[in-house]
Amino acid sequence: MIVMKFGGTSVESETAIRRVTEIVRAAEVRRPVVVVSAMGKTTNKLLAMAREAAAGRRDQALGLLDELRLDHLRHGLPLAGAESADLERFIRSHFEWLEEFVKGLAAVGELSLRSMDAIASAGERLSSLIVSFAFRAAGMRAEHVDSRRVIVTDTRFTEARPLFERTYAALKERVAPLAQEAVVVMGGFIGSTLDGQTTTLGRGGSDYSAAIIGAGIDAEEIQIWTDVDGMLTADPRIIAGGHRVKSLSFAEAAEMAYFGAKVLHPATVLPAVEKNIPVVILNSRRPEAGGTRIASEAVPSKNPVKSISCKRGITIVNIRSTRMLMAHGFLRRIFEVFDRFTTSVDMVSTSEVSVSLTLDNTENLRAITDEIRSFAEITAENDHALVCLVGENIRHTPGIAGRAFQVLSKLNVRMISQGASLLNLGFVIADRDVPEAVAALHREFFSELDPAVFD
Ligand code: ADP
Ligand code: ASP
Ligand code: MG
Repeated sequence: MIVMKFGGTSVESETAIRRVTEIVRAAEVRRPVVVVSAMGKTTNKLLAMAREAAAGRRDQALGLLDELRLDHLRHGLPLAGAESADLERFIRSHFEWLEEFVKGLAAVGELSLRSMDAIASAGERLSSLIVSFAFRAAGMRAEHVDSRRVIVTDTRFTEARPLFERTYAALKERVAPLAQEAVVVMGGFIGSTLDGQTTTLGRGGSDYSAAIIGAGIDAEEIQIWTDVDGMLTADPRIIAGGHRVKSLSFAEAAEMAYFGAKVLHPATVLPAVEKNIPVVILNSRRPEAGGTRIASEAVPSKNPVKSISCKRGITIVNIRSTRMLMAHGFLRRIFEVFDRFTTSVDMVSTSEVSVSLTLDNTENLRAITDEIRSFAEITAENDHALVCLVGENIRHTPGIAGRAFQVLSKLNVRMISQGASLLNLGFVIADRDVPEAVAALHREFFSELDPAVFD
């Protein structure tokens, strides 16, 4: 068995879903379980609709709802062939349910995290059903499984975590045997609590679903199909001309994801690592491109740096002890405050009297600032970015930091860190300097490429 996960762009339209159908058909002998994201930008639109409704802009919300309904009917129905009347009935009744929900939100004027999840789940519920109809119309045996009946989570709505034991047991019982007989199609991103409330695993969470499902059915491989040829040496939204990285270790991939490579959700690799299941990233528009293979061991590479990751829009927080020197327990007090407000810190550097740290989530910064002010001076600076060089061999190669500094010498580097994992070397710079910094680092570290690892 294998898991094949298709992201939003891979199922964004009728044409895209036809491509997916052919890709899955070619892999049918490997007993695929297919996991799909919502079509295109559906999740963004659903959440925007929920916010409009809760803000009392009912007509705008219903306008968005109509757009979504039309999109799903227009792209979905032609795929269903002889079963199109059944699919139409399903899509229409689903949107009727959504419409009632939206009207309710507009009346109450309030949006709980639980309601957000109920609404956001619609995208994957619809896309997975449409894809299962498309597969059947194309002559495959396909069965739709509602992910909410197998992915059991805690109650942290919008960021739910799976209850692994229950989830794995349900996957073994319901999905693995079915996959022997038919292509199983499931929605990513969604699950439900023990008492049946719909939850989601956080934005971008379909990758995570794929990994959980892969681990639960003991898949031999987890494929993540997306809109790029694999992990590239730099984020294509920042610079063009990045090269495909043919293979990465789990540790490198986790580091890249954590430090901003959107192509994989940061938590994705964990279930795969635990079961030692390789993860392969592939392009649904160019299945022949080769992709990136992520496995426990890194293929030896002459290039110490495998990729440059980037986390933009981060905030630097500077905290200065109001005494001359940092008192004993100062750091503990600071981190206790961040912890209490469940705000995670990406990078930390300390000096004799001060601590600087970076955050990407500033939702609770005001409250944190108020508390810390009672024992220290605190200031914050927005619009920074964390640029990281990632690669297993960084730790074994002297001079990487020196080369990077040389390259960045004209820029104002605010913080530096060699991660505790020793797999990354990170720099905090002004966000506006990102394109220049990434381009310069890319020239320095990727002008010669080891063909064993790069394309
Ligand atoms: P999907 O909808 O398939 O889940 P995502 O948009 O979540 O796709 O992730 C794919 C995107 O990740 C790419 O289109 C690309 O812009 C972005 N990305 C960021 N960093 C990298 C990188 N280092 N290599 C490849 N893609 C990257
Ligand atoms: N559809 C969800 C999102 O947009 C999950 C995913 O695509 O991975 O966040
Ligand atoms: Mg994604």
